[in-house]
Amino acid sequence: MHWSRRSLCLTEDPELFFPVSTEGPGREQYEQAKAVCRRCPVQHRCLEYALNTHQMYGVWGGTSPDERRAAMTAPRRGAR
Ligand code: SF4
Repeated sequence: MHWSRRSLCLTEDPELFFPVSTEGPGREQYEQAKAVCRRCPVQHRCLEYALNTHQMYGVWGGTSPDERRAAMTAPRRGAR
């Protein structure tokens, strides 16, 4: 079974995971979506997928686009 079939967000409003802004009501949406992700059994798979496929919009694996961007540009531990 593909990991996405176990996603908690399948039963949530998809718009919750794609706020139009990080300010005002959009900020609250991000926090609500992240709260769903924290309970999701496939959070790590989802985040891995988002990073590998450069998903630049919405909440994936409990992260915002800015957080994923930072993770992708951060130096890896042990890298030379
Ligand atoms: S971690 Fe969040 S965005 Fe990813 S599948 Fe789970 S609920 Fe959906």
